[in-house]
Order: sequence, then structure tokens, then C-alpha cells
Amino acid sequence: MDSPERAAYPEPMPKGFYPLPDTLDCAEILNRLPVALALVDADSGRFTAANEVFRQSFGSPDGDFSAWWQGVHRAPASTANPSAPPPPDSALRESIESDMYGADGYPRHMRTEVSLHGRHLLVCLIDLTDSDNRQDLLRQALAEMEARSITDPLTGLLTRRRLEEASLSEMHRFRRFGHPISLIIADIDHFKLINDSFGHPVGDQVLVEFAVRLSSECRDLDVIGRYGGEEFVILLPSTPLAGAFTLANKLRSAIIQAPFDRVGPLSASFGVAECVAGEDWNSWVTRADQALYRAKSSGRNRVVAAPESAFNERDIKHRNRLDRLTWEDGHCVGDPVIDAQHHHLFELANRLLTLVREAGPPADLHATIRALVQATSRHFRDEEAILTAIDYPRRDQHAKAHRILSAKLDALSSQSALGTLPTSKLIEFLAYDLVDHHALGADRDFIPWLRRPPRTEESGAQE
Ligand code: GH3
Ligand code: MG
Ligand code: MG
Repeated sequence: MDSPERAAYPEPMPKGFYPLPDTLDCAEILNRLPVALALVDADSGRFTAANEVFRQSFGSPDGDFSAWWQGVHRAPASTANPSAPPPPDSALRESIESDMYGADGYPRHMRTEVSLHGRHLLVCLIDLTDSDNRQDLLRQALAEMEARSITDPLTGLLTRRRLEEASLSEMHRFRRFGHPISLIIADIDHFKLINDSFGHPVGDQVLVEFAVRLSSECRDLDVIGRYGGEEFVILLPSTPLAGAFTLANKLRSAIIQAPFDRVGPLSASFGVAECVAGEDWNSWVTRADQALYRAKSSGRNRVVAAPESAFNERDIKHRNRLDRLTWEDGHCVGDPVIDAQHHHLFELANRLLTLVREAGPPADLHATIRALVQATSRHFRDEEAILTAIDYPRRDQHAKAHRILSAKLDALSSQSALGTLPTSKLIEFLAYDLVDHHALGADRDFIPWLRRPPRTEESGAQE
């Protein structure tokens, strides 16, 4: 109790009681308080005053408090005595919550507190409508609207519910006519970091751009929906697993081929599953989701097909990849050294592929493999130093992947020196291991760490 006003009262005051200075106009203060207040004469039970908020909410009260109380209350037929005013016969504060009709005719959920002060009852009405009742109603209304809506308001794609409905008719066709159907689940990699680094509204914009890129690669017959936050599902009628896998890879390229507005390069992972006889939507989606999980856990920026298929992912990857060893801007990870070195490795790999395709002189082939060995070893060293500098949390695993690649490349180089190198092995290494799996796969996992502002004192990023 050491406020400056304390000095104005020489006598010790009872705890919690300080008289208002005479200069204050108490009526004016009550008038301005943001709660409805009224005074009722305790003997006659008639209103004697009401403040501004009370008058705005219920009109100017005149007459009997009990009659007013009856008037403002809803009177459900079954309730015996809903409108009994809180007992005014006590000096203790009484409080009651009820629904009242205000001057505008709309019901409001109010708490009424009545306290006796001398010959007056002070009636204080606190509006709780906005704080609980209305918000519940709003929540309910929003949930209903959302459930009824066909399209997701952010991306304009189908909602999860509509997508599930569409899947039922496609599954029906599948059962009846045996048309194959597949689905793809796409999930943006490290999307949480986008929200964390750039804010939720930018995250929303990324989702919109992501949806546009997916849609532009799909056919009219394909059904695309936003399945959850940053997870999208595409239903592919009349498409077997191999076709869905190829499309998912096209989608993957469409995401990495160019940086996203405001945030730069991004990648996404994809799970693919073909509907098999006898399964329902849940089991089908679950299989696709498990495939997505494998795509995430094996390094992201990749497509994984659900295991219930006889087809060989690797064969399809090869067929799709070989003529696509072209360098695109979207392959950049955002670090000038790494990007220049990747670009150079692409050129060397292409030179090798050309030599293989055109059956060039073995000496040229071997010289080019040696150049590739040197360039990769230099690149791996530089990249590992950069990953350490940016505190990339999976740098040890990454360095291990480099060592495995180097060992494979050394083995290929020895075989080529001996003239015993099977071309299929070289192609597999270049197209699948080095480019698809590593440069366009694992190497994209550290993009978010490259993008972070230079570290100051805070600790390394956690997964
Ligand atoms: P990964 O999938 O690669 O494992 O990592 P992630 O960071 O994408 O993973 P996770 O699924 O944990 O994070 C998804 C984030 O998406 C979390 C959530 O805040 C965010 N998100 C969900 N819905 C929306 C949305 O409508 N707008 C925005 N901006 N963010 C959303
Ligand atoms: Mg996710
Ligand atoms: Mg994600």
C-alpha cells in the first residue's frame, strides 16, 4: 500500500476501501461504465435510475423491476418460474445467468448481479453472449458450413468429404467394370518450417500455388482435393499403378522445377496406391499414406508406390529419367557453390550417357568417369562443409550417403579401367543413385536450413 494517494488519507482505511474524491461525478462514471446498471428502490421495487448501456440494451426502464424482469425474459412454456428475479433481500451479492431479449429483439445471454446498498438495489447486467453463447453458435455454424461446402475455401480444390464421396462412385465403377483406379497423396516437405520462417499467411499462399501446380499437371477426369492441412489427394480414374507413379513423378518435378513465390525452392513427397479388389476407401488411403510415409522417411522429394503392386519402381524410374538429365532452375537448392557443382555433375553425367548411347571410345568413357570421380569427391567435401556451417541436423547421415556413392563410383571406375563395366550399371548409377536419389532427392532435404537466416546464438535446428 504505497501508492501516492495513500498520503491524502491520514487515518488508516479499512482494507480495500477508499472513498472517491468529492470532485468526481459518480453518476457520470456509472453512466460510462460498459455494463448495464440500474438502481431500484428497495421498498417500492421501482426503477429509480439506469445508465447509458442499460438504456441502449433494454430501453429506458420505468416502473416495476419485477414486471421489467418478466418482460425481458424468454418464457419457455415448460419452465415453471424462469423469470423470478434474484432475491433482493440480502446485502450479499446475488448472481443469476439467464437469456433475455434486448431492445433489438435478439436474445442475449446475461448475468444479473443484484446487491443491496442502503435503500437501493444495484442491478448490474453483464452480457455474456459474445464470450460463450455466441461463439458456440458461431463455431457450430462454421462447422456446418464447412461440412456442407464442396470446395476448400483456400485452394478451391474439393474438400476431404467431397473427395471421399467421389471415391465411392469411382470404386463402384471399379468393382463393376474392373476399371483400374489409383490415388496419389502429396505432402509438402518441411512445410512447418515455411510457416515458422515466413508466417502463416505466406504458408497459405504456398498452399494455393502448390494446388495450382498439381492441378495444371492433371487431366480433367482426375479428382483433386485438399485432404488435410498441407496434404492433397488425387484420385485417378482408369489409371493403373504404373500410370499413377509416372504422374506423381511429373507432379514432383512440377514442384521442384521452379522456386515458389516468396519462399523459394520446395519439394513434396508422394505416396501412390492402386485400389485392389475387395478393399474399401480407408484401406486404400491407408496404403497410400504408408507409401507417403516411406517417401518421407527415405529422404523426401520422392514417389513411393504402395507395396501391394507387382510393378518395379526402379524400372519405371529408369525409363522416365534417362532422357531427363537436363538441368533446370528448379534443381537449384539455393547455395551458389552447391548449385554450380550439381550443374557440373549433371553435365559430366550427360557426357557419359552420350558416350554410352553412341558407343564412344572406351578411353573417353574412362576419362569421363575419372572426371566424374574427381568432381563428386570435391563436391561432397564442399557440400559437407556447408552442411556443417548451416548446422543441418542430418549431416552425418548425409555424409554417409556420400561415402556410399563414392565407393560405388570408385568401383565403377575400376571396372571401366579394366574394360569390364556393364553400361546398364553405369546408367543406373548416374540416373538413379546420383541424380534422382541424391542430387534431386536427399540434397533437397537441407534446403530449409540453407534458407534460414545466418545463425546467431540460438541452437541448431531440430527435426
Ligand atoms: P514433412 O511433411 O516433410 O514431414 O514436414 P512438415 O513440416 O510438412 O510436417 P507436418 O505435417 O508436421 O507439418 C504440417 C504443417 O502444416 C503444420 C501445420 O501448422 C501446417 N498447416 C496445416 N494447415 C495449414 C494451413 O491451412 N495453412 C498454413 N499456413 N499452414 C497449415
Ligand atoms: Mg505433413
Ligand atoms: Mg509436410
